[in-house]
Amino acid sequence: MRIGVIGAGQLGRMLVLAGRPLGIDFLLYDPAADASGGRVAPLVVGRFDDRRALERFAAQVDVVTFDWENVPADSLRALRGRVAVRPPARSLAVSQDRLAEKRLFRRLGVATAPFAAVNSRAGLRRAVGRVGLPGVLKTRRLGYDGKGQAWLKRPDDVETAYAALGGRPLIYEARVPFRRELSLLSVRGADGAIAHYPLAENRHEQGILRLSSAPYRDGSLQAQAEAHLEALLARLRYVGVLGVEFFEAEGRLIANETAARVHNSGHWTIEGSVTSQFENHVRALAGLPLGGTAARGHAAMVNFIGRLPDAAQVLAVPGAHLHDYEKSPRPGRKVGHATVVAGSARERDRGARRLLDLGRRALDE
Ligand code: AMP
Repeated sequence: MRIGVIGAGQLGRMLVLAGRPLGIDFLLYDPAADASGGRVAPLVVGRFDDRRALERFAAQVDVVTFDWENVPADSLRALRGRVAVRPPARSLAVSQDRLAEKRLFRRLGVATAPFAAVNSRAGLRRAVGRVGLPGVLKTRRLGYDGKGQAWLKRPDDVETAYAALGGRPLIYEARVPFRRELSLLSVRGADGAIAHYPLAENRHEQGILRLSSAPYRDGSLQAQAEAHLEALLARLRYVGVLGVEFFEAEGRLIANETAARVHNSGHWTIEGSVTSQFENHVRALAGLPLGGTAARGHAAMVNFIGRLPDAAQVLAVPGAHLHDYEKSPRPGRKVGHATVVAGSARERDRGARRLLDLGRRALDE
């Protein structure tokens, strides 16, 4: 069994690290010759829109998956007759378009923020009139980690927001006055079996995930989230790990976006659950039985952004594990993460604070 992964960032890398012990081989594909995944598996260097190169790549593997959400969905569709593409290209296409994604949520009865499509300055004015203020204007495509967003507080903000983002297909959403951000990761096997991880609570800074803590224990929210994921998995005929980010407002879940792949808010599962999201994604792709998704203790994952702290200091935190992606430092770049697993939520939070502090101090050095 050989799995081809389009995109060889840290997610592809962690898929390899999880799949090799199962006797599964990997071939990665990425435009960057120094991609993080290329340190742990053979890497084919090519553009994401080079159909010929992708076809040659696909001919060498049994199943193709992807680790980056902006891989052109058309490139995947073109491979369909030649090799199994999992999860299906359509689920990637939906997750790439914030409007298609919100419409799918709505069709499946999953609550979203009020939203409207925007294609012009006048369209933005109409959308603000309908949806209200405050709100956020987002590019429909190619937005991630808070990029491609502009907040509107007053009617005058229409001009500046449109000047910043106009000329591309956009979506305007009402601001959700959320209490917290949660995400659910679920996995569906080739035989249709489904397993859900416990909810994780996520904290973002400047639009980038900084901290995930799990399990977030709330029986009613867990059941709501699982029902939403089951509807999505069935509709998309999904195979692999699917993530959905939610806002929690007034005891209700409001869906923000999907990730048609393993997700940063699930990195805690490597040490914090019975089977990691990476191993379960690989198992699903390979047609193997899914592994247990229960939490083992209380886990927190801290992203290291820009620069890694000193490994010895990270590992001195009780219960901490370090994941160095072997990337060169660069502002805003996810270069690694650490997970702390503890016997209680308090102990875990203490460890998470130390890791966050180390991450911040690394940037000051
Ligand atoms: P996104 O790129 O959609 O994941 O947005 C990045 C972050 O911006 C989210 O994790 C939220 O913290 C915030 N955000 C995005 N959309 C909204 C919204 N409609 N209401 C409130 N906060 C939002």
